[in-house]
Amino acid sequence: MLRSAILAASRSARLENLVSKAPFGRDVARRFVAGDGVADAIRVAAELAADGLSTTVEHLGPATATEAGAHTARDEYRRLLRRIAEAGLSDTAEVSVKLSALGRSVDERLARELARDVCEAAAEAGTTVTVDMEDSAGTDLVLDTVGKLRGDVPSTGVAVQAYLRRTEADCRELSLPGSRVRLCKGAYPEPESVAWQAALEVDKSFVRCLNALLSGPAYPMVATHDARLIAIAEDRARWFDRAAGEFEFQMLYGVRTAEQARLAAEGYTVRVYLPYGTHWYGYLARRLAERPGSAAFLGRALTNR
Ligand code: FAD
Repeated sequence: MLRSAILAASRSARLENLVSKAPFGRDVARRFVAGDGVADAIRVAAELAADGLSTTVEHLGPATATEAGAHTARDEYRRLLRRIAEAGLSDTAEVSVKLSALGRSVDERLARELARDVCEAAAEAGTTVTVDMEDSAGTDLVLDTVGKLRGDVPSTGVAVQAYLRRTEADCRELSLPGSRVRLCKGAYPEPESVAWQAALEVDKSFVRCLNALLSGPAYPMVATHDARLIAIAEDRARWFDRAAGEFEFQMLYGVRTAEQARLAAEGYTVRVYLPYGTHWYGYLARRLAERPGSAAFLGRALTNR
């Protein structure tokens, strides 16, 4: 129930205004977000690279409700990708993007076109793009868009969500040579008709998806902080004879940093999802919802203590 309340709070413009302006809110955000601008993202990506960690950088912009807003988001990604190349980070830093940021709700065709622009800019910068998965109403659109993009930019990756009942089958479809697939549990409220609700069912689905990906030719990106699933992934990778460079772990910036360091020291590629931008409130609230014990942060931010 607390999780639902925090998720509801993540969509409140009034709370966003309060928390974004409260000094404590900004302090908490610094734990999970690189900063407001591209320079902050590049600085933190370089620091993480020096520690042996790769990154996938995402811009947290305002909700995209117009065509002009979608073009602004595309231009921000082009700027980010140029800066990644200029900073010599193309080997370790890629970008993550949401079709909603590129105008999915305005015009799906526009979002597809702008996603292609971002992928082409990434190829020019010598790096890659992973398209995030959002609510289940957009799953087909994301998979279809990435399928078409891979025709021209084969390195384009996609996220899939283990909580969706369909995802094991999607993983089999995505099991193609060079196919970059990020497997995560899933972060959106979804009805029982499309998504497993019990944590154990989600975990079991995660393992089935993991098996489907690790047993085929795809490049799996195992995105979880769950100690048990990480241990299973290490075990399954050994079972399927996957060398450390043939899959990777991904975690969020600021979450389980000691585990990130441990896996990197073991020789695995560890990629940190690194968000930046001024619209960090919704992202922060979703992270706190995943760990309701830390919701006290939100309360303190609101009361400015
Ligand atoms: P959980 O069961 O939530 O957590 C397991 C354990 O990890 C917890 O017990 C706790 O010890 C620790 N932990 C987890 N979260 C936190 C936290 N915020 N603070 C402190 N400790 C924590 N979701 C999507 O729907 N679409 C996407 O495209 C997407 N991309 C992602 C990319 C990356 C790199 C990652 C890591 C996650 C992504 N997610 C995405 C979010 C994902 O779906 C989950 O909501 C999120 O990762 C939490 O699930 P978990 O697997 O870590 O397991």
